[in-house]
Amino acid sequence: MTYVGTDFYCDVALKGLVPLRKEYESEHVLAFHHTQPYWPVHIVVVPKKHIASFTALQTDEMPIFLEIVDVLKTIAAKVEREHGAARILTNLGRYQDSKHLHFHVSSGDPLR
Ligand SMILES: [Zn+2]
Repeated sequence: MTYVGTDFYCDVALKGLVPLRKEYESEHVLAFHHTQPYWPVHIVVVPKKHIASFTALQTDEMPIFLEIVDVLKTIAAKVEREHGAARILTNLGRYQDSKHLHFHVSSGDPLR
């Protein structure tokens, strides 16, 4: 499917409208392999609650953020172990296509 909106996570992924290869799921956090990967290894980690971006995080959302950090650490360590290198990235402002906080864990050279 071609998604043209601005919040793929709330509108599609978290509604279960596409099959996801999940790496982690809890009540508050979901991690899955990107449906249109930009790197050979490309996993996204998102809060299930709508949070617009990293800079939009509120103080009362810190418990969710800490769980995200914990999940990022576990997944990045696995990717680092298996591929020898990993990176963690979040985009802001005009760099951020989907206006829902998400962190990319990736490894390898860009696919396009
Ligand atoms: Zn959202």
